[in-house]
Amino acid sequence: MLQTEDQYYLSLRDGRRVFYRGQPVEDLLSHPELGPAIRHAAVDFRMAHDPQYRDRAVVTDEDGTYSRFYHIPKSSQDLKKRRDLIALSTRLGGTVVPLIHEIGTDALFGLMEVTQVMDHELGTHYSERVRNFWQQARDHDYALAVAQTDVKGDRSKRPSDQPDPDMYLRIVKRTSDGIVVRGAKVHTSVSINANWLIALPTREMREADKDYAVAFVLPVNTPGLTLITSPFLSSLHHDMERPISSQHKMVESFTWFDDVFIPHEQVFLNGEWQFAGMLAKAFVEFHRFTAVSYKLPLLELITGVSALLAKYNGIDKARHIQNALSDLVLYEMTVRSILDNAADRGEMVAPGVFRPHIPLVNLAKYHFATGLHQAFHHVQDIAGGLLVTAPGEEDLSHPELGPVLRRYLQGRDVGGENRLKALYLASDLVASDLAAYHLVLAVHAEGSIEAEKMTAVKSYPWEQVEAWARQIAGISD
Ligand SMILES: Cc1cc2nc3c(=O)[nH]c(=O)nc-3n(C[C@H](O)[C@H](O)[C@H](O)COP(=O)(O)OP(=O)(O)OC[C@H]3O[C@@H](n4cnc5c(N)ncnc54)[C@H](O)[C@@H]3O)c2cc1C
Repeated sequence: MLQTEDQYYLSLRDGRRVFYRGQPVEDLLSHPELGPAIRHAAVDFRMAHDPQYRDRAVVTDEDGTYSRFYHIPKSSQDLKKRRDLIALSTRLGGTVVPLIHEIGTDALFGLMEVTQVMDHELGTHYSERVRNFWQQARDHDYALAVAQTDVKGDRSKRPSDQPDPDMYLRIVKRTSDGIVVRGAKVHTSVSINANWLIALPTREMREADKDYAVAFVLPVNTPGLTLITSPFLSSLHHDMERPISSQHKMVESFTWFDDVFIPHEQVFLNGEWQFAGMLAKAFVEFHRFTAVSYKLPLLELITGVSALLAKYNGIDKARHIQNALSDLVLYEMTVRSILDNAADRGEMVAPGVFRPHIPLVNLAKYHFATGLHQAFHHVQDIAGGLLVTAPGEEDLSHPELGPVLRRYLQGRDVGGENRLKALYLASDLVASDLAAYHLVLAVHAEGSIEAEKMTAVKSYPWEQVEAWARQIAGISD
């Protein structure tokens, strides 16, 4: 089944416990701040039913007709089609990724990879459970969220060494039917508008941490689960002034598990501490591929609006502006090429699961994350101070002020109103709450820059280059 937009909206009216600024939210869709996030995420369902996009968004094979997001990648081509779909949905979402299929399927692919190894080594039966849930999710076209990041307390201490034992999600009880979990995760994107939530460990564990080695899936309306949403991004803006953030946003939650019961068939890791780190990483490697796929539209749009404003301001031939535009182009091309290469050099990691090349995925994410602040600087430089000082939409439509603004704010071959529209777009991209969100997202989401750097650098052929240096220097062992 491919959910329709309306079925999706209806599916979220299930008694889930969501709070916004201390108030319980009865109806997500009609909420002034959360409704826009739900309608934004529904782009995935609109795409699948739109003849213009359907062939890219939907797969038909021996398993039936279903969302391409659920298609398990089996080749470089599959990864590229997935990348293109993620980029398409993000373009339709005005540079904000919908994420309700992307992140959950990344987790499922990671789980498929690791549970096959676990079952082989430990004689467990987790991979069948994962496969069953994947089938169910695919056939119902579920929206999924992933809660991996724990609150973590003192970062220098391991889970079992924390003074408060609940700083990482843990199993507090095992029964014949399942497990009971307690703790809190943070930054959980799209949790309030997902049908199911997948919980994964956030790090490697030791034997003493075994009750923290837990992974499972649960419906978002499960008793004991509470989602406290972040109010950081507001949608209460004028459409013209904030063409993106008035309509598009993602919402994160503080995700509280207050002794939540999870039946066995929904549990994918239950104390097997040796596999916690492997699972955390397996998800992240798929997710970094997704991440860079959804960054590309942002890089295209900041380059596009910069070129436009350079022309409108009559500075497109200036050397420093051409340098800034070239930097933006090279940045985008480099990130795209590394990602392409990561898909081309991917590998089959478990029967039927093709994973992007790990060092290259990390390099792509690292290159993106360390370049975005400089890229925003270029856009701010080209656009000028009106990014934060321009008059408002009402002034433009005012009978006396409007004509004055249209005249005085004109640029080269462009009237004041269109120049302001371009400036409003640039402002929304690089000088707004959304801009701050993009920047923090770049640094932290999908794992830290340090982790990306270390993963990429680790793969470098150190021995080979050292040996060559010894040889050229004439150093014999
Ligand atoms: C917008 C957004 C959306 C997100 N969406 C999701 C989501 O859907 N699901 C999810 O699970 N997570 C999500 N994340 C979480 C993201 O993966 C984390 O932010 C990231 O892993 C960093 O964790 P943290 O925020 O707790 O920061 P910290 O871990 O506190 O990191 C802060 C700094 O401390 C350093 N540090 C941390 N621990 C150590 C240590 N032991 N030793 C040395 N240095 C250390 C880090 O390298 C970093 O420099 C999201 C984050 C953002 C910003």
